[in-house]
Amino acid sequence: MDETPLLSARQVTKEFVSGHRALDSVDLDLRPGEWTAVTGPSGAGKSTLLQLFAALETPTSGRVLYRGRDLADTDVDAYRRRSVGIVFQLHNLLPHLDIRENLEVAMYGTHLGRRARAARIDALIHDVDLVEQQGRKPPQLSGGERQRAAIARALVNDPEVLLADEPTGSLDPAQVQRLVALVERHMADRQMAVLMVTHDRDVAARARRRVVLDHGRLTEPDVPVPVGPQ
Ligand code: ADP
Repeated sequence: MDETPLLSARQVTKEFVSGHRALDSVDLDLRPGEWTAVTGPSGAGKSTLLQLFAALETPTSGRVLYRGRDLADTDVDAYRRRSVGIVFQLHNLLPHLDIRENLEVAMYGTHLGRRARAARIDALIHDVDLVEQQGRKPPQLSGGERQRAAIARALVNDPEVLLADEPTGSLDPAQVQRLVALVERHMADRQMAVLMVTHDRDVAARARRRVVLDHGRLTEPDVPVPVGPQ
């Protein structure tokens, strides 16, 4: 495994204008081919952490690095388009476009030709089991179908990192297994890194690393905490 972090949070603190501190001195590295699961109570800062790695928010202090370079000095539009795949909690699919069109829009500006794009969309729609539903628009889909469409959209540009906020909450156990297999295949084939917020213990158990956020502080319970001076 490549040990160079793809994304790093270095002493990241995020305070909103309300003065609320959602993240407090967070350090976290995401490495190629590594799956990190984030758990923690509601309001702990999990979504905020994902938004910072997705360059949708900026830290109040500290730095977010992509391949060692501060995201603040990076072309964040290109970074979001090419490097990250994001599954939002509320899906954020375009409501007036069907599933297939949602994936096509996500591929605008990529170097692939029409046929290659269509082939990739076909494969992903098959992988998430939405072949029959692909001509339907989000309001005509169940919560689980929307969630699967959002997962397909997040993977359609072969991202280096998948940032996913509770992507399995509306799925049944068989669909969860299918999703886990799909994510693991992308990790094995392309060394994709994964940061996934999840409350599903079985899903978290598949991750190589598990970190916990609580009141904006990040801990890694599987790793022994170094004993400091008493
Ligand atoms: P989680 O995903 O763990 O439930 P969030 O990251 O969504 O937590 O939120 C962490 C805390 O920051 C919560 O207390 C939330 O109310 C607050 N928060 C999130 N976004 C904003 C915002 N834009 N403005 C002010 N407070 C916010």
